[in-house]
Amino acid sequence: MTDKEKSSNRIVIVGAGISGVSAAESARKTDQKARITIVSREPELPYYRISLTRFLAGELSEEQLPLHPQQWYDERRLQLLRGVEVTAIDVANKILSLGNQDTLPYDRLVLSMGAHAFIPPLQGGGKKNIEVLRTRKDAEAILEKAYTNRHCLIIGGGVLGLETAAALVRRGMDVTVVEAFAWLLPRQLNRPAGERLSGYVESLGIRLICGARIEMFAGEEAVTAVVLESGETLSADMVIVTAGIRCNSSLARQADLKVNKGIVVDSRMGTCDADIYAAGDVAEHRGIVYGAWMPALQQGRVAGINAAGGTADFPGVAPSYIIKVLDIDLFSIGEIHPADGSCQVFEEHDEDRYACFVFQNFHLVGAILMGDTSLSPRIRALIENRVRCREILIEAGSGRDIRERLQAGVGGK
Ligand SMILES: Cc1cc2nc3c(=O)[nH]c(=O)nc-3n(C[C@H](O)[C@H](O)[C@H](O)COP(=O)(O)OP(=O)(O)OC[C@H]3O[C@@H](n4cnc5c(N)ncnc54)[C@H](O)[C@@H]3O)c2cc1C
Repeated sequence: MTDKEKSSNRIVIVGAGISGVSAAESARKTDQKARITIVSREPELPYYRISLTRFLAGELSEEQLPLHPQQWYDERRLQLLRGVEVTAIDVANKILSLGNQDTLPYDRLVLSMGAHAFIPPLQGGGKKNIEVLRTRKDAEAILEKAYTNRHCLIIGGGVLGLETAAALVRRGMDVTVVEAFAWLLPRQLNRPAGERLSGYVESLGIRLICGARIEMFAGEEAVTAVVLESGETLSADMVIVTAGIRCNSSLARQADLKVNKGIVVDSRMGTCDADIYAAGDVAEHRGIVYGAWMPALQQGRVAGINAAGGTADFPGVAPSYIIKVLDIDLFSIGEIHPADGSCQVFEEHDEDRYACFVFQNFHLVGAILMGDTSLSPRIRALIENRVRCREILIEAGSGRDIRERLQAGVGGK
C-alpha cells in the first residue's frame, strides 16, 4: 500500500440495499479520493427491493430490477464485493472479517444491513413451502412454487401481503390473506378505510379473513394447511409470511454498539462509535425504525456524507406512506388512530375516494387519503412544520369542508 493510499479515507459500507448504495454515492460526491467499498451478501447487482412484487406479478423482468448497471459503480470507483458476508467487526482495530476468510480494514464504516422478514414462532414453522419475500432469491423461490401449487395462503394484510396476493392471483393462484387485526393495513388505515380497501381486494378474487390468528402449520415435511386459533383449518400448498421485519443488527450487537429495535443513531446517522454510521432499515433514529424506502435513501445519503468528512443531518420525517395498493392510491401520515377525545376527526366518504383528517389543538396531526392523494404534499408540510390550522377549522363541519379548504390553500401559511 502506498503512502498516498494509506492517507486516503477507507470507507466500507456493509449492505448494498438502497441505503448502502446511496451512502456510497454521496460519500463519493463528498470525497473524490476516498477508497469506497460496498460489501453485499446478495450475489446480484443491487436492485429495487420495492419492485419485487411487480417482478413476482410478471410486470417487470429481472433486467429491470437493478438500481444501476455495473458500469455505474466502476465510473464512480465504488468497489462492489458481491456475495460476500461481513461476519464480524473488530472496532478496536477497525477491521472487518469476511465470510470468504478475508479481512477488510476501514477508517469509517457505514452499517446498512437492512432487515429480514419476521416469522412468528408457531408450531410447525420449519416446514417446506413456508416462504417470505425479502430478497430476489425469495421471489424466485416463490415463483417456482407458484407454477406448481395451487393454493397460497398469505399471513399478514399489510402492503407487502396484499401486493404479493395480487401478484400471485395474476399468476393464476388461489390466494387467501389472513390478517390478525380487524381490518387491512392497520398501520396505515383506520377501520373505514381498511374496510373500503377490503371490498376492492375481494373484487380481485382474493379471499380475506380479518381478525384471525394462526395457531400452527400442519403437514408432514411440507406445509399442507394452517390451523387458525378458532380451530378452522385452511388448506395451503404454499404459505407466505408477511408479518413485519426485524433489523439485521447482530453484527452491531457483537461489536457492542448500542442497539434497541435497531442500531441507535443520532441525526448525523452516527452510532456510539465515532467512526461507525448506520442507515436504513437497520437504524433506529429517535426511536423509529422506518422500514421504508425513502427514509432509507435519505439516511444513506446523510451517513455517506458524514463518513466522507462532510456534514449532513437527517431531520426525521413524520411516518407516512404513499402507496399504490393494487391500483388504489393511498396516503397515510401521522396520528390516524387518535387515542382520546382531544382530537377532532373529519371524514369524507365519496364513491371514488375517502379522506380522514385528524386535528389536535388546531394542528393537523394525521390524515388518510384514499383514491385521490393530490393533497398529500400540503398535508405533509402542515404536519411536518407543525403549522397552526385555525382558519382551516373555523366552522368546518365535515371532511369535505376540510379538503376544499386545503385545496383552496386556506390558512396555515
Ligand atoms: C417486496 C417488498 C416491497 C416493498 N415495498 C415498499 C414500498 O412500496 N414502499 C416503501 O417505502 N418500502 C417498501 N419496502 C421496504 C423497502 O424496500 C426497505 O425499507 C428498503 O429497501 C430498506 O433498504 P436498506 O438499504 O435499509 O436495507 P435492505 O434493502 O434490506 O438492504 C440490506 C442489504 O444488506 C445485506 N446484508 C445484511 N447483512 C449483511 C452482512 N453481514 N454482510 C453483507 N451484507 C449484508 C442484505 O443481504 C441486503 O442486501 C418493500 C420491501 C419489500 C421486501
